Amino acid sequence: MSYKLFIPGPIAVSEKTLRAMAQPMIGHRSTDFVALYQSIQPDLQALMYTRDPVYLSTSSAWGSMEGSLRNVVRKKVLNCMNGAFSDKWYDVALRDGKAATALKAEWGQPIDPEAVRRELATGGYDALTLIHNETSCGCMSDLAAIMKVVREFPEVISIVDTVSSFSAMPIQKDELGIDVLIAGSQKALALPPGLSLLSVSKRALDRAAQTEGRGYYFDFVEFQKNHEQGMTPSTPVIPLIYALKSKLEDIRVEGIDNRHARHARLNRTVRDHVFAKGFKLFPREGYGSVTLNCFANNLGYDLAALNKILKSKHGLVIDGGYGKLKGKTFRISNMGDETDATIAAMLASFDAALAETPKAAA
Ligand SMILES: *Cc1c(COP(=O)(O)O)cnc(C)c1O
Repeated sequence: MSYKLFIPGPIAVSEKTLRAMAQPMIGHRSTDFVALYQSIQPDLQALMYTRDPVYLSTSSAWGSMEGSLRNVVRKKVLNCMNGAFSDKWYDVALRDGKAATALKAEWGQPIDPEAVRRELATGGYDALTLIHNETSCGCMSDLAAIMKVVREFPEVISIVDTVSSFSAMPIQKDELGIDVLIAGSQKALALPPGLSLLSVSKRALDRAAQTEGRGYYFDFVEFQKNHEQGMTPSTPVIPLIYALKSKLEDIRVEGIDNRHARHARLNRTVRDHVFAKGFKLFPREGYGSVTLNCFANNLGYDLAALNKILKSKHGLVIDGGYGKLKGKTFRISNMGDETDATIAAMLASFDAALAETPKAAA
């Protein structure tokens, strides 16, 4: 079983990162751990363009996404929805017993800032959830335009999922006024799954302190208390924190701007190449993701067959469509450590496999 993942997470993890994980354990209350925790804060803050602390949550991103609702929603949350993950976030709010309103767009359509304004203006909201980059349909909303609207409503705490865009493009947390910024380890950071990063504003922390029922494991107040000591509330996934430190070194060597430019360039390379085959992008034009391309299967290929050939003959895997888009779209990731050379090799394999792939039965 050896193949390379070009699905939009988890993605391929480098040998260097894997080796970084294989270090002896340290106690999570030891001075060694405190030094490790504190050493990565400045780099994490730089990547998030924030002066707020960046907490390390031993969970996948959903832990932080659900936990954030429990910390800041006292009255009612507006869930902006345009794909599988954002749809789910609304469902999670309801499961948490929160009053929630669904602001729905079609999958692949961006969130409309004017629609956000109209709904928030009806009043009663004290929180909003937004997914910057809807991985399920490869649609990236205009974060700056939406945050400009959200800032008109000072009572609204913004919770923004940048799980699949974080570190691949600049997301200026403080400048945009994002209260809670969430990222995950297995997307653009190219780490194994199991660690989530979240940066929380003073405003959101103050809200949390007044919110009942926020539990323990994802309690912002607990995170902050421990953060001040250079620690996490409970025993964290130390191997992934080693891996994160190693990755932050890689990013420093490459340079953040170069990293962003590389993601943009490789994204464009994949898009242009697959367009030349006659495929179209699934999301609305101008709102395609920078870390993956979600293509419409407008040529009617048998995507299961395509992926089978890719995996067995070329040792790589792309995604054949998320949820209700299965068979109708395919997604190719350009997140993480990809280079011009690895993307070119993947595209050559894609071409060869596509030439052998039958059309799906209508
Ligand atoms: C992958 C992903 C998630 C879910 O992450 P988990 O690690 O499975 O919890 C949430 N939001 C977006 C945008 C994602 O791409």
